[in-house]
Amino acid sequence: MTTANTRPPVDWPAVDEEVITHLQNLLRLDTRNPPGNEIRAAHYLRDVLEAEGFECVIVGPSPERATLITRLKGNGSEPPLLLMSHTDVVAVEPEKWTHGPFSGDIADGFIYGRGALDMKNTVAMELMTMLLLKRLGVPLKRDIIFMAEADEETGGHEGAQWVVENCPELIQAEYGLNEGGGGGLEINGQVYYTVETAEKGSARFKIRTTGDPGHGSVPHENNAIVKLAELLSKVRGKQPPIHFTATLRGYVEGLASAQPAELAGLLLAVLEDESTASEAIDRLPIDAFLKRELHAMARNTIAPTMLEAGSQINVIPSEAVAYLDSRLLPGQTLEGYLLELHAIFGADCNIEFINPAIPLEADPASPLFEVIKDVLHEHAPDAVVVPTMLTGGTDAKHVSRLGTKVYGFSPEFYNGTIGWSGVHGHDERIGIHSMQWGTRVMYEVVAKFAGQ
Ligand SMILES: [Zn+2]
Repeated sequence: MTTANTRPPVDWPAVDEEVITHLQNLLRLDTRNPPGNEIRAAHYLRDVLEAEGFECVIVGPSPERATLITRLKGNGSEPPLLLMSHTDVVAVEPEKWTHGPFSGDIADGFIYGRGALDMKNTVAMELMTMLLLKRLGVPLKRDIIFMAEADEETGGHEGAQWVVENCPELIQAEYGLNEGGGGGLEINGQVYYTVETAEKGSARFKIRTTGDPGHGSVPHENNAIVKLAELLSKVRGKQPPIHFTATLRGYVEGLASAQPAELAGLLLAVLEDESTASEAIDRLPIDAFLKRELHAMARNTIAPTMLEAGSQINVIPSEAVAYLDSRLLPGQTLEGYLLELHAIFGADCNIEFINPAIPLEADPASPLFEVIKDVLHEHAPDAVVVPTMLTGGTDAKHVSRLGTKVYGFSPEFYNGTIGWSGVHGHDERIGIHSMQWGTRVMYEVVAKFAGQ
């Protein structure tokens, strides 16, 4: 393993400027998905990489939906590390932005643009890491694979999933770094950085009720809409039970490890018993957002999000359907979850899962996690590093099918706000310092983990 002292020195002031330029250039490419047009980003990355001697491949189901992959060879003594990021971004309402969403403008210490946090920042950091490792000739024991993929925001079918199903050999790796963690949070004045070690699966479902059709002027009791409303009211104040996972334990124990005895005790009380954990979370004197997130990390969750019933105000429909977003914890099965749902909605409730996706969990005690901890310790000496669970999903769900242990780590300097809150919002932006800090952390994690 190389150490920071034995590796060739990096001209950080020059890199600081260079990485900001790459980010600005990427933000200026309109890769809104749909339709995506990720080929714009793929061409940019290819030009930059090929100018420095990398060989790139661009793959995908169509010329527009392009994923770029390149590789830096190690000596093969250990299996590859995959640096993954997506180049597509979500929609924008340009009139609500102070700076154009595809401007890459710099103002007040921030770089503005759709994707500044999710996740062209990481595309640029990982690109910069590849360039530096090659320029400096850092000897590697693992190949480093760089994949900038299309289509994450609408599920990855034309991006990571396509690569996994059509050319998995291009990205086969033991470990992967992806979005999902790397940001900071603060409790009681103590700063923590997260590394995502788990990601919930999707267990979205429909509930369908049926009744008698009829004229709206002659009401009757067998009304499908009323029956559906009664079923949905059962989730008011009620969620499925708590299940502990290694990530939840690591997260809560990590938070507790840096708190004074009283708060530490309240935090550790969450882990005493699954049956009392929900009340223990409610009692925590922490930020309301963090508390909601902790509840969601501890259980399968249900949130009604769409309704479908009736077509005319004077016609009683014979059917009503509710769509519920629902997320499954690592370690849980759909069969087991169905029992929890029937316990809430009743045994005869008609529940139909929609395109379920498996949950994931990587070991919170791996060598990669340890390297991340060490590097963060150098760059944020007072912070504590904790594993975390993403309650949503990313392309990790596709790549982990290849056996890759994917960690969410997109390092972002904590400046007193929860950074993730700007994601998908208006005026998405990243602090210049945060971007430069993140680039150093990313480079050092990769160099330390994969260096000889
Ligand atoms: Zn993303």
